[in-house]
Amino acid sequence: MSIRVAKHVERLPRSGIRDFFEIVQGMSDVVSLGIGEPDFATPWNIREAAIYSLERGKTGYTSNLGLPRLRRAIANYVERNFHVSYNPLNEILVTVGVSEAIDLALRAVLEPGDEVIYHEPCYVSYNPSVQLAHGVPVPIQTRAEDGFTLRAEEIEKALSPRTRVLMMNFPTNPTGATMPPDELKKIASLCRKHDLVVLTDEIYSELTYDSQPHYSIAAYEGMRERTIFLHGLSKAYAMTGWRIGFACAPAEIIEAMMKIHQYSILCASIMSQEAAIEALERGESAMIAMRREYELRRNYICRELNAMGFPTCMPKGAFYVFSDIRLSGLDSKTFSLRLLKEKKVAVVPGTAFGQAGEGFVRCSFATSLNLIKLALERISEFRSSLAKAA
Ligand code: PLP
Repeated sequence: MSIRVAKHVERLPRSGIRDFFEIVQGMSDVVSLGIGEPDFATPWNIREAAIYSLERGKTGYTSNLGLPRLRRAIANYVERNFHVSYNPLNEILVTVGVSEAIDLALRAVLEPGDEVIYHEPCYVSYNPSVQLAHGVPVPIQTRAEDGFTLRAEEIEKALSPRTRVLMMNFPTNPTGATMPPDELKKIASLCRKHDLVVLTDEIYSELTYDSQPHYSIAAYEGMRERTIFLHGLSKAYAMTGWRIGFACAPAEIIEAMMKIHQYSILCASIMSQEAAIEALERGESAMIAMRREYELRRNYICRELNAMGFPTCMPKGAFYVFSDIRLSGLDSKTFSLRLLKEKKVAVVPGTAFGQAGEGFVRCSFATSLNLIKLALERISEFRSSLAKAA
């Protein structure tokens, strides 16, 4: 007898990024602009906090919600930076990355068949996470001409009697888009009018450039009670491998998410939680230094891609450029595969982030300036070879 896979799991596509990077792994001398993870090691004081906690023998389980001291640190951090207050006793849950928090939040609020509106191009897990929670994904296409922002009127058009959740991520992976506060205000008012739950993924919120402030929808009037605020340390604090995220929401939502977390995960790793306290309480200067470096790289990569004839919006946040490669005459996947095979540069086809990404590729600038320069030289050669062949 063979084991049968559940149909809704069998139907899920594999991540376009993973497929692509399996090819990359089989090759040598590849310069990668593909990975969405900082090239910096976690700042030393954060690593040291984890080492010190191990030395003191802190190796056990923690409360399901997470260490009380970490939850207090999260409450202070969110209040200071996002101007929303949450009670560390029952409104905050520490998770295994934002990835787990997204899954828990959707499973906690969706009934089978409920619709979830979100904007595409978007992070690869959104559509599958909705499906795994037996919801129905309803993507809204955002456009380069509009800076990939989300418009309240587009949400309104996508509403149906089954719409339950609006899921957002600003600054956005893969486009680097941010939201103007006046549009966010309109979206907040729409969510109140139609009684939507908002799931806001704030994972890149520290990484905004040109001294632009970040605005969270959770802080708008009447939104705290209907918002599940998700954040984590992977990106801004260079802590991808520690697997720490958190959710802040009204107590009954956190209680529901905690029940799923309790039975499936139990708790996030204590070593990582100890490190997270240090990051939130004393990590800011190291984070600002990394952000400064990303901004220099962003300016460089964006200027060079535009100069080569690939129109590329200046991203306002995160660490990706989403470059328009339509002039090449190739689709995103062919462009990326040929660039990899012919010039050994890895970028991610825009379609990995939804159909709205066709005609674009994502290049990450979370890699050193020297490697970015080398990649751009090779991309320029590729561009010339395409022009000659045309
Ligand atoms: N949300 C977005 C928008 C991301 O880009 C990522 C990772 O790339 C995640 C969530 C997952 O992050 P974590 O490492 O916290 O699970």
